[in-house]
Amino acid sequence: MGKPTGFMEYGRVENAAVTPLERIKNYNEFHSSLSDKERREQAARCMNCGVPFCQNGQLIGGMMSGCPLNNLIPEWGELLYRGSTELALERLLMTNPFPEFTSRVCPALCEKACICGVNDAPVTVRDNERMIIEYGFENELVKPVTGQHRTGKKIAVIGSGPAGLAAAEMLSRRGHDVTVYEREDAVGGLLMYGIPNMKLEKDVIKRRVKLMEQQGVTFKTGVNVGKDVKGAEINREYDAVILACGASKPRDIKAEGRDAQGIRFAVDYLKDSTKTLMAGGKPDEAKGKNVIVIGGGDTGNDCVGTAIRQGCKSVTQLEMMPKLPDERAANNPFPEWPKVCKTDYGQEEAAAVFGHDPRLYQTTVKEFIKDDKGRLKAVKTISLDFSNGKMTEVAGSEKTLPCELVLIAAGFLGCEEYVAEAFGTKLTQRGKLDTDSHRLGGKLFCAGDAHIGQSLVVRAIREGLDCAKEADEFLLGYTPL
Ligand SMILES: Cc1cc2nc3c(=O)[nH]c(=O)nc-3n(C[C@H](O)[C@H](O)[C@H](O)COP(=O)(O)OP(=O)(O)OC[C@H]3O[C@@H](n4cnc5c(N)ncnc54)[C@H](O)[C@@H]3O)c2cc1C
Repeated sequence: MGKPTGFMEYGRVENAAVTPLERIKNYNEFHSSLSDKERREQAARCMNCGVPFCQNGQLIGGMMSGCPLNNLIPEWGELLYRGSTELALERLLMTNPFPEFTSRVCPALCEKACICGVNDAPVTVRDNERMIIEYGFENELVKPVTGQHRTGKKIAVIGSGPAGLAAAEMLSRRGHDVTVYEREDAVGGLLMYGIPNMKLEKDVIKRRVKLMEQQGVTFKTGVNVGKDVKGAEINREYDAVILACGASKPRDIKAEGRDAQGIRFAVDYLKDSTKTLMAGGKPDEAKGKNVIVIGGGDTGNDCVGTAIRQGCKSVTQLEMMPKLPDERAANNPFPEWPKVCKTDYGQEEAAAVFGHDPRLYQTTVKEFIKDDKGRLKAVKTISLDFSNGKMTEVAGSEKTLPCELVLIAAGFLGCEEYVAEAFGTKLTQRGKLDTDSHRLGGKLFCAGDAHIGQSLVVRAIREGLDCAKEADEFLLGYTPL
């Protein structure tokens, strides 16, 4: 244990954020880091408890608690406190191939399960992780793993999101020849064309892809497997195939007027915004418009933050469910994931610009109203009541909100059928690839959201690692992965 009294001496200090009104002027990441001394104090807050739930990654009450990657958090916390950042990096990289992603976008399941958080504020695990990995990059300590025995085995990974990247990274470290197919023009999956730049700058992904290429991974972008190339062709060429194609089929909203111009799925909108930005342009689809985001979750929040940066006239976020409590309820004890109301960066920004939280709870869309040219001009909403244990519309509660752009962020229905069909495999009723393990049969494997449903980056990485292990064992009869 680094400093036995650290948690009593030092309070939690998070990386400072640029103020909402300032940061909405651009799409840059907006957190700065602490000084080395301050970072060591934050690391000293780790109590190195007997039962470190933070690194436990277990499902409790159907929700993940602690780090799914089993990051050795107390160990690298102590090393960080002692100033041995290089050793902390070694420990971090033992379990997590991409800490630069998780330390930026993870909702920090570890911190919610930190024992220090039972009576006080939890350790700043995610910020500590970010400092360690960025120290590694700044000091050129993060290197491709090369020079290993080549196995001569060829593996195709379909999809370059965090699951596909994690599988590719581990299998190429093992000496297999890995080719990653990606239908988009850039590698990264939702890291690239879902999560906005202010949460994850795209150079962070490019930096990692470069290292993977140096390690021997081949990336083929702009190839839609199942359309541009047949599954049978891939099967013929490779010794193992991993489907890591995500769960990107969006849930639609069925309401009158759905065919109005000006209604888009959230990920399409976010992708266009990032593409414009990356091409050096200024995304402006929401400029001057009243925007309604349907869906109160994280994707919806990303749409709110993006629409504000594009100069929207107003932004409202509709959430069907009631507002969650501000504190843990009695039936949601530690170390379960806390079901509490979270105000994310986009909602903070909306409050700063428009003077109020953009969320309307227990509200859904009744009708999309068009003008005579078929363009969206307003949305009729209705309130929902849950008091009888089921959801009912509240008669007479309709409201009409002016609106020229609707962004649907109502969740995802799973994997796209054509990818499964291309390899002669099936989806479950919930749109997932149908297997209890990672092996779908023969040489076919799967990982990530395509396997478990839309989830988190950290879980997708875990999936990629576990799948790599199974595929390696299949290819060579044993695995040290
Ligand atoms: C807007 C948004 C914001 C999010 N924010 C966060 C966040 O802040 N933190 C967090 O932890 N999680 C977040 N998530 C969830 C997280 O991004 C996903 O759980 C994670 O990316 C899943 O990884 P994956 O590799 O399984 O799939 P994906 O990232 O979806 O990648 C799948 C890739 O496969 C490609 N592909 C599909 N079919 C084919 C084909 N036939 N041929 C070739 N390529 C194909 C796709 O183009 C895609 O690039 C967010 C999700 C969304 C939608």
